[in-house]
Amino acid sequence: MKKILILLTALILFAVMPANAIVTDDTQDGHMQNKINQIGFRILNSNRIPYRITFFYNNNSKIVNANSAFFDRSITIYKGIILIADDEDEIASVLAHEISHSVDGYQGILRGYFQDIKYLVSPKKYEYKADKRAVDYLVNAGYNPLAIIVMDTKMMSQFRYDIFGTHPLSSRRVMEVYEYIYEKYPAFLANNKYADNLYYQNFLLTSEKNRQKLEEKIKTNSKKHLKYD
Ligand SMILES: [Zn+2]
Repeated sequence: MKKILILLTALILFAVMPANAIVTDDTQDGHMQNKINQIGFRILNSNRIPYRITFFYNNNSKIVNANSAFFDRSITIYKGIILIADDEDEIASVLAHEISHSVDGYQGILRGYFQDIKYLVSPKKYEYKADKRAVDYLVNAGYNPLAIIVMDTKMMSQFRYDIFGTHPLSSRRVMEVYEYIYEKYPAFLANNKYADNLYYQNFLLTSEKNRQKLEEKIKTNSKKHLKYD
């Protein structure tokens, strides 16, 4: 009986332990965990997001990635992201996108229990939604939303077609962000802190045709949704 009780207690303890609650004590990485918390909570508070969302820095993997777990709404940001980010706005751009996923993780019936399935059915829809919502989150928190375009240029590779996979074609994604900023927050483009940035310049170079499409849409006052290449 005693053995069973000990086993049960161990099982319960294991079950309530947060999945990602391993933080590093290395000074530099500990400082980064702190920084990520500060950026994350700044975005949550300035957007009045009424949900508990936690942030963990994984310094064991240098993959250029971040993710949001639906089951406990925790966000993990991997060291690779930090290695390619050049300023705080760029780290914030990744966190704002993941926060949008975590907010989705709270919504719907049974406290968001079926969000995993919804994401499985139409993953691209939620990626576009997270990108645009990230723009709003960044602006409200005092960050520059063009940082999304800079980070995407550095980290998102370009597949041949949009048909496969869970994420939309990178060139299309980044243009949707650009169009959203153009329409909703044009001041950031008029007074562009990234105008001379190497990666922003590369975005301008690779998105020329797509931006012409957008210009045409604006000129003709068209309301139709553009399909970018
Ligand atoms: Zn995403």
